[in-house]
Amino acid sequence: MTNAIKCLNYIDGNWISARSHDRLESRNPANSQELVATFPRSSATDVDKAVVAARQAYKSWRTVPAPQRAEYIQRIGELLLQEKEKLARLMSREMGKVLTEARGDVQEGIDCAFYYAGEGRRLFGQTTPSELGNKFAMTMRVPIGVCALITPWNFPIAIPCWKALPALVCGNTIVFKPAKDTPACGTMLIEIFAEAGLPAGVVNLVHGSGKEVGRALLEHPDVDLVSFTGSSTTGAEVGETCGRTHKRVCLEMGGKNAQIVMEDADLDLALEGALWGAFGTTGQRCTATSRLLLHKEIKAEFTTRLVEQTSKLRLGAGTDSNTDVGPLVNSTQLKRVSDYLEIARNEGAKILIGGQVARGEELKNGYFFQPTILDDVTPDMRVAREEIFGPVVSLIEVNSFAEAIEIINDTPYGLSSSVYTRDVNRAFQAMRDIEAGITYINGPTIGAEVHLPFGGVKQTGNGHREAGSTALDVFTEWKTVYVDFSGKLQRAQIDNR
Ligand code: ADP
Repeated sequence: MTNAIKCLNYIDGNWISARSHDRLESRNPANSQELVATFPRSSATDVDKAVVAARQAYKSWRTVPAPQRAEYIQRIGELLLQEKEKLARLMSREMGKVLTEARGDVQEGIDCAFYYAGEGRRLFGQTTPSELGNKFAMTMRVPIGVCALITPWNFPIAIPCWKALPALVCGNTIVFKPAKDTPACGTMLIEIFAEAGLPAGVVNLVHGSGKEVGRALLEHPDVDLVSFTGSSTTGAEVGETCGRTHKRVCLEMGGKNAQIVMEDADLDLALEGALWGAFGTTGQRCTATSRLLLHKEIKAEFTTRLVEQTSKLRLGAGTDSNTDVGPLVNSTQLKRVSDYLEIARNEGAKILIGGQVARGEELKNGYFFQPTILDDVTPDMRVAREEIFGPVVSLIEVNSFAEAIEIINDTPYGLSSSVYTRDVNRAFQAMRDIEAGITYINGPTIGAEVHLPFGGVKQTGNGHREAGSTALDVFTEWKTVYVDFSGKLQRAQIDNR
């Protein structure tokens, strides 16, 4: 209890308590008796303080030359690199992912920092000829203002970095609300931002619940943009409120990703991909593989081998180097996954392996669920359509490539997708016809790199893409500038006709 980290809010360059003295807890999901951190239950009053500070800081931050802003981002990258192991260990304790993956999560933040630091010397606009003589036309990116970043717990360093670093290099200021399950990771990240020497008010951190802090950010008249990653239900609410309050909004929501395995695929490769896609991060990734569309000719063999490999996966604390699959993040997720298994049973799916909360002396205080494979799943079942966010994968048999494409598209979501085939024609058809923001050929559904656009179609997103140069489109507006050096009034569409 005494070792628990005491998280504070960070507002206008100061670490401070919330107005209310209520504190919330973050516990180790591998052993819920271990208290990892306590954090303030902030309210609309604390949010207001942070937004006021961000608005004030914006006045000067927007005019700092982008290459100078980028120097802070570069420094953040260097500090993240220095603290990588410490951050990864904290993450593993706080939200359960295995250490190798936690290191990957931090590395994504580091990659992001170095990528957006470089962007400080680009942020390109365009010049184009004017239709009139002695007139110059150009476009430039301008920052938007105060950005609220509302993030989930499954990538507690990578996702905030994806949002904060492009936002900052573009000249915005931010108010960050981390998820309730990962306040200590959020705090350590902002400690690094503070150490990088960002001016007071440029970055602010407000802890608390979605209902209080999240909502207050959405309603605050001085927040210009909301960047949200989380569930589709919450995202819909965020979008609705931002529509009403005239905010820019970028939404990254759920997925129901599938991997197709055709009869001509390299089955060893496809098997490895399926295991990593389905059970990596305990299935708690928005890009996790939750459906396997298996061609009838290879289904029996593939299934036998998949079950065999799955039976070898070792459950345990993410901090233990022998662990393959860590716990679910909290009791709510454990119940949600258990409820989906009940739904699967009632719908007539067959459980080939797993299907239960994991028992055992070492697991009893954690939120462990057995890696689970469901067979005889049909595309209309709820388990084939809804996001489960746990170590559960559904097998669906397909008779042809055309049928596989039809089924892969038959969900409300469209984030990631994967096809294993040796046929180049099928590969290109898949790239063209799959309705998803991301398609992997001969790779699993997970594995995004920071310099490429990330996001999805249909109910996964609202048309934006994070990461890469596309994130700049989220965090800037275009300004069009005409410079007339003719010394006279020149009327477009009129005087040149
Ligand atoms: P999860 O908690 O499963 O990641 P959520 O979509 O519920 O998914 O939460 C994602 C983020 O959105 C979290 O930081 C959460 O606190 C926040 N949040 C939850 N509800 C709301 C809401 N009504 N308004 C704004 N933010 C919210």
